[in-house]
Amino acid sequence: MTSIMSTSPAPTASDPRPYVPERRGILFIISAPSGTGKTTLCKQITASVPGIWHSVSYTTRQPRPGEEHGREYFFIEEKIFQDMVAKNEFMEYAHVYGNWYGTPRKALMDKMEQGIDVLLEIDVQGALQIKKKVQDAVYIFILPPSMETLRTRLQSRASDTPEEIQRRLQKVKEEVWSYREYYYIVRNDNLEQSLKELQSVFLAERLKTKRLDMHWLEQNFILEKESKPGDRDQSSIAKGSTAHHD
Ligand code: ADP
Ligand code: 5GP
Repeated sequence: MTSIMSTSPAPTASDPRPYVPERRGILFIISAPSGTGKTTLCKQITASVPGIWHSVSYTTRQPRPGEEHGREYFFIEEKIFQDMVAKNEFMEYAHVYGNWYGTPRKALMDKMEQGIDVLLEIDVQGALQIKKKVQDAVYIFILPPSMETLRTRLQSRASDTPEEIQRRLQKVKEEVWSYREYYYIVRNDNLEQSLKELQSVFLAERLKTKRLDMHWLEQNFILEKESKPGDRDQSSIAKGSTAHHD
């Protein structure tokens, strides 16, 4: 596993070693009460910030109109889900609003090893499971401006029955208390503003000193050959003499 502060020199064109990224990917975790706008914002983030891979979860819930197997989710039978649990194939999994949801472990680890940043859109239970295992993930909580707005958004999305909407609204009062576990809170009132705030978090996290590409720093400022006072003159003499012969 490549450490974040890896100092191994990067391979060059004449160096046949496989490419080793200078840092692992960052794991971004976004949770929000259902209907807040998390899916909308996550799609916009992956479209507007380069280098993010949006993980696709497995679920036992039925697809909504317009959802595609392998795009929004991998829609699977409960028996298959439980087999995957038994084989430890999930990084985390949880029972949410009457269905199972899980994040596939291998795809996520592969991307992070390749230095690609990963975005997980998961519920609070799943985020807390990951928090116990992954120290330097970035936890972001999105909230609607009010319960009333949330109700309107759930109704206007028109993807859930009135009973299902009621169940989701009931859950908010429990979920909201988990905000303390998250490092950033975005209040999704104006969509454009929320996207800007999320983009700032993603970009700022990439600039953190602990994620610095040590190889770049070493090559440019530490291992760089010190040029002696005479070096410049010598090289210009050499260039000058070549020009003379031409
Ligand atoms: P979630 O993934 O959190 O359940 P969605 O992304 O499906 O929520 O959004 C729920 C509904 O609210 C959708 O119809 C979406 O278009 C709408 N929506 C999202 N963000 C906003 C916003 N800032 N203002 C108004 N409507 C929004
Ligand atoms: P929905 O059915 O509205 O797509 O999602 C319901 C809830 O399940 C949302 O809060 C969503 O974030 C969460 N969810 C989606 N995928 C996963 C997952 O892989 N793990 C967990 N723990 N929750 C998930």
